[in-house]
Amino acid sequence: MVCFCFLVDQKIVVRRSKAAAGMCSRCRRSARVADMQTVTRFCYIPFYWKSWKAIVCSLCGNILRSYHK
Ligand SMILES: [Zn+2]
Repeated sequence: MVCFCFLVDQKIVVRRSKAAAGMCSRCRRSARVADMQTVTRFCYIPFYWKSWKAIVCSLCGNILRSYHK
């Protein structure tokens, strides 16, 4: 039997966002300041979180700028 449990994946979650000055370079919609969180999972169990801030587009989700610590 083959076990597919060696799966590590990463998910980017927007925890909250608020309006910000700026414009998306792709679709010209307004930008938002968002608290982002990268969740790394192993066997679908989260074991590592990293929070960071980013300027994202409110429409297409394009990340205009990120502030990784
Ligand atoms: Zn956009």
